Amino acid sequence: MSEQADIALIGLAVMGQNLILNMNDHGFVVCAYNRTTEKVDQFLANEAKGTKVIGAHSLEDMVAKLKKPRRVMMLVKAGQAVDDFIDKLVPLLEKGDIIIDGGNSEYQDSQRRCKQLKEKGLLFVGSGVSGGEDGARYGPSLMPGGNPEAWPSIKSIFQSISAKANGEPCCDWVGEDGAGHFVKMVHNGIEYGDMQLICEAYHLMKSALNLTHQEMSQVFEEWNKGELDSFLIEITKDIMKFKDSDGSYLLEKIRDSAGQKGTGKWTAISALEYGIPVTLIGEAVFARCLSSLKDERRQASCVLKGPINTTYKGDKKEFLEHIRQALYASKIISYAQGFMLLREAAKVHGWNLNYGAIALMWRGGCIIRSVFLGNIKTAFERKPDLPNLLLDSFFANAVQRCQNSWRTVVASAAQLGIPTPTFSTALSFYDGYRSEWLPANLLQAQRDYFGAHTYELLNNPGVFKHTNWTGHG
Ligand code: NAP
Repeated sequence: MSEQADIALIGLAVMGQNLILNMNDHGFVVCAYNRTTEKVDQFLANEAKGTKVIGAHSLEDMVAKLKKPRRVMMLVKAGQAVDDFIDKLVPLLEKGDIIIDGGNSEYQDSQRRCKQLKEKGLLFVGSGVSGGEDGARYGPSLMPGGNPEAWPSIKSIFQSISAKANGEPCCDWVGEDGAGHFVKMVHNGIEYGDMQLICEAYHLMKSALNLTHQEMSQVFEEWNKGELDSFLIEITKDIMKFKDSDGSYLLEKIRDSAGQKGTGKWTAISALEYGIPVTLIGEAVFARCLSSLKDERRQASCVLKGPINTTYKGDKKEFLEHIRQALYASKIISYAQGFMLLREAAKVHGWNLNYGAIALMWRGGCIIRSVFLGNIKTAFERKPDLPNLLLDSFFANAVQRCQNSWRTVVASAAQLGIPTPTFSTALSFYDGYRSEWLPANLLQAQRDYFGAHTYELLNNPGVFKHTNWTGHG
């Protein structure tokens, strides 16, 4: 009998092919399958030539080639395709077998699938996979969640193929049912935030300081040596100085309107659903929406006037340092908000999330990888039940150290008429979060005035009163 495979992988598009080759490199025998079965033969004859990868032309054939308990991973288009494959796999599998969905599925779908498969004795894993094509091939960040009984059977494969940060795998068990995909969704939201923050720094350097591309590239290079050291700052440094074949900077020729696939939007929707003020990711999503109104903005730019001069009058070098600190402080707020959302979802769904491990999973292999995530991991190691990152001494000191610069940048940008939605919302959140008193007493009174919604008194918590504010009737 030919060699039995350690795992099957369904879906031979870019992610699936690369993950199979990664698994093969780490000594696992993979059985490849795809809806369009010609792709199996093409893959075996080309990309997988000379490897130990085997193929199957039917799901029955694939299942028959697997060691028990069977491990079947899907990397197919999220949505109906995943349900269709699950329906076809269920009759072919036995109790204790494992189905893993590595696509960008919505966490509610993973919750549902986990529950349905558990009733049939099958173990479901919904795993976030981040890092794109390159990550899949050489080490992604993996965020598996679902039925915890599956973890011992997939742990060695997952941790071998994942990225490593200081020798530690960027993969650990996240939590029950949809937790893996929820964490992946928040990761993508944070990615939106990180990218928008860098874009605002670029806008200020370009419009307020009139820096050249070469100068901006040097600034990002410098920033990448310190506390902002990250993949996104590094690629921005390269993008700034990249020249087109005609010798001009390519960035200048790119249309200033951004698209989106939806996971940032999902995070913002979740934030509203769970009632957690994840304002920075929300603003980052809206900034993309505003950017996409290019034609309308072109018209508005002819009508709506702002300050005539957008050049910063003070010391350039000093302002650059202010921007760096504003970016760092805002980034801390974004991650603090992301972890607040994780904590609330964990509470609602009974997930036992290990926040330090999540920070480590994002430390390498994925788009948001950065040195900063090491600091977050340390903060949660110091205090696993830390209620908020901002209350950790390292981060509290960092935002306090940066706050004068942060305020200078937000105020200057407002005066110069340069939009900084994420820098500004981060600062507003910080000022709100650190305020013992907020004007919501007036909100309570207004709601009671027009809708008899009642209000609660400071000195009598839990007791709700209504007042006839007009004194009539
Ligand atoms: P993809 O373009 O999202 O999906 C293509 C794969 O899905 C093909 O194998 C295709 O089979 C299969 N498929 C599509 N519709 C199907 C259906 N109705 N029934 C059965 N199979 C169907 O591939 P991808 O870019 O490699 O991504 C795979 C998953 O990983 C997705 O969920 C994606 O969101 C996620 N992801 C992607 C990236 C990335 O950088 N690309 C990063 C992280 C996560 P056929 O060949 O037969 O059409």
